[in-house]
Amino acid sequence: MNNDSQLAFDLDELVREDLRANPPEWHGAPLHFTTDYYPPGELQAAFEQWQLLNGRFGSIPHSHMWHTGYGWLNGGTEYGDHRLVMFSADLRPEPKCEGPGDLMYLAVCEPCGWHQVSDSEDDSVEGWHNHAIPNWRELPVVPAQIRVRDGSGLTKLGRKWIEAHYPAEMQVSGAPIITERARYATRHVAGYSPWGGYDLSSTALNRPTTIRTDVQPLRSTLATAGMESPRSAQAPNRITR
Ligand SMILES: [Zn+2]
Repeated sequence: MNNDSQLAFDLDELVREDLRANPPEWHGAPLHFTTDYYPPGELQAAFEQWQLLNGRFGSIPHSHMWHTGYGWLNGGTEYGDHRLVMFSADLRPEPKCEGPGDLMYLAVCEPCGWHQVSDSEDDSVEGWHNHAIPNWRELPVVPAQIRVRDGSGLTKLGRKWIEAHYPAEMQVSGAPIITERARYATRHVAGYSPWGGYDLSSTALNRPTTIRTDVQPLRSTLATAGMESPRSAQAPNRITR
């Protein structure tokens, strides 16, 4: 840090000290971790208020407050009258300290005043799909042999397979797809369905692929034995993070 930026930092800290000593009145969401329902805008405003008072550096672990990030779509996922916005909060203990705590996840559907808190991101995403999209678990699983994405987005083959197998009423804005993944590639990824919904992992749903009839497996003995396809065995899905 050079002298100028150190000076700016010191001045900022002086202003924050003053703000902390005489905190402005605050009527928004709590400036600490909460499991109560608040609309996404209020949660975001509360986190920004905490940063105003205490600085941005280390604000996620120190505040333990809900914040957006981790690659979720900023505007959320909309399906019909529902809109999912995802948050996370870091409740883990400080480095070198012991104690309970975890990364927590919050799914909010503001139009319904609905929310769900979980220590698993996948659970939160699935919880919202349960809330907003009846029967989504019955959707066909895109087999691993069908490469849904490459570096430039959805593949032609992937689109074609999905259009042919997904019910027409589920090929709508915000609707998800379910794709077969390698065992540990379980993350559900926002915005990766052809309609801007989630690409949900079949492994996280703990159910086998049901449709394989028109697929030409790379090694049919493996596929028919229900083992992992060569693709998923050699190259775990790139969207795993
Ligand atoms: Zn809803």
